[in-house]
Amino acid sequence: MGAGLGVVDGMEDRFQREINYLRVSVTDRCNLRCLYCMPAEGVPAAPREEILTLEEIARVVRASTRAGVRKVRLTGGEPLVRRGIERLVYAIARIPEIDDLALTTNGLLLPSMAAPLKEAGLRRVNISLDSLRPDRYAYITRGGDLKTAWQGVEKALELGLHPVKLNAVVVRGFNDDEILDLARLTLERPLHVRFIELMPFGHAAAIFAGGYVPAAAIKAQIESEFGPLQEVRKLKGSGPARYYRAAGAAGTIGFISAVGDHICRRCNRLRLTASGSLRPCLFGEHEIDLKALLRRGAGDEELAALIARAIKEKPPAGHIRSHRPAREKAMSQLGG
Ligand code: SAM
Ligand code: SF4
Repeated sequence: MGAGLGVVDGMEDRFQREINYLRVSVTDRCNLRCLYCMPAEGVPAAPREEILTLEEIARVVRASTRAGVRKVRLTGGEPLVRRGIERLVYAIARIPEIDDLALTTNGLLLPSMAAPLKEAGLRRVNISLDSLRPDRYAYITRGGDLKTAWQGVEKALELGLHPVKLNAVVVRGFNDDEILDLARLTLERPLHVRFIELMPFGHAAAIFAGGYVPAAAIKAQIESEFGPLQEVRKLKGSGPARYYRAAGAAGTIGFISAVGDHICRRCNRLRLTASGSLRPCLFGEHEIDLKALLRRGAGDEELAALIARAIKEKPPAGHIRSHRPAREKAMSQLGG
């Protein structure tokens, strides 16, 4: 395949899905320890030499455009704890084929970093925020400061990093009594609140049975308060999320239903782990080692061929199991 791979616009996998989106985990480290994501002591971080350098990541992204990648999201771990992240944003923003560059963050470092990131070329952010109550936010994140995270949200709005999306993982007994308060944020301001179903990864496996709340139940609760939600067709970077609007609202309400819905049919993505492996499917364990090829001095064409192979190896659907072996990776290692 290698030699013949020109620059293509979104490569189709074997199931006629157009794969044009690369999620890049830039670090497996984090400044929080969310209960459903990590143990209190954190996940053992990979040795520094195992982690792709920023230059290597930029090279992989450049090569990926030959396999049809047009959208990139930087994630982690917490992407803003990776030193030099602005340099990476700058490099990716200058790759002409990339037309959407976004970042998923817990927002704590946004108050100081949002402006340089925007200047470097970042277009938009998703901020994870599971609670609007300071004590509860601190409990779920094991020590996070809600005020700082909220300042990050305000900064993103002020700088026009639109659409500003807020991600809330709903967990029964943790924050399911805040669904309406979170949805209410969309009424007055251009905020896009996305309710994410808890997935039984890593540390969530232990709380999944009691904590899982289906997106349909969340939507029903919101509609019982705000009336029927209108489906919104297109929001930048929609992917597998479905978006709705409450009557007269400035923002939207989204649902990401990985467990209860068949999001796999709308899957448009490939993942690059911090240690340089391509993961065709979040729910499978199959990974393809890109780093070895990269460090052997492979050219863009060869890298693109391996990325194209990963696209072709995407399974039709992932299997979410509620009991996953402990050796499997945590969400922070996979890039969410
Ligand atoms: N640290 C950044 C953040 O929290 O936004 C980026 C990485 S984090 C792994 C990406 C997303 O995955 C977050 O929105 C987080 O809430 C979500 N996440 C983590 N564990 C999850 C789980 N078990 N089920 C569903 N979503 C999860
Ligand atoms: Fe860190 Fe994000 Fe995981 Fe929370 S969800 S522990 S912020 S990587």
